[in-house]
Amino acid sequence: MPEKFIHPDGEHVTEEQVQQAKQEAALLTARAALLEANPIETRRQCTATNRAGTRCGRAPIPGGMVCDRHGGKAPQTIAAAQARLRSLWEPLFEVFTEAVDTWR
Ligand SMILES: [Zn+2]
Repeated sequence: MPEKFIHPDGEHVTEEQVQQAKQEAALLTARAALLEANPIETRRQCTATNRAGTRCGRAPIPGGMVCDRHGGKAPQTIAAAQARLRSLWEPLFEVFTEAVDTWR
């Protein structure tokens, strides 16, 4: 049973427009999460500090917070980084597959 949506200015809004707005919102949310976590950005910096007390200058592993010299090779660190990437990509992929379904 289709819901009825009325735009605040009184205009009738179609179910299609509502679905489109929902998809756009989901995309924006996923995109914001991606930008915030910045999993691909190579300028990201490992969060570890060296013996001199200054911050490590190397890039962390994808989806991770530390480089491979500061724990980024540990299986649990790799697993957490992969889970973090999945949690970011899965909502995007869901929106994408929904969009593809509507084009059929
Ligand atoms: Zn490091």
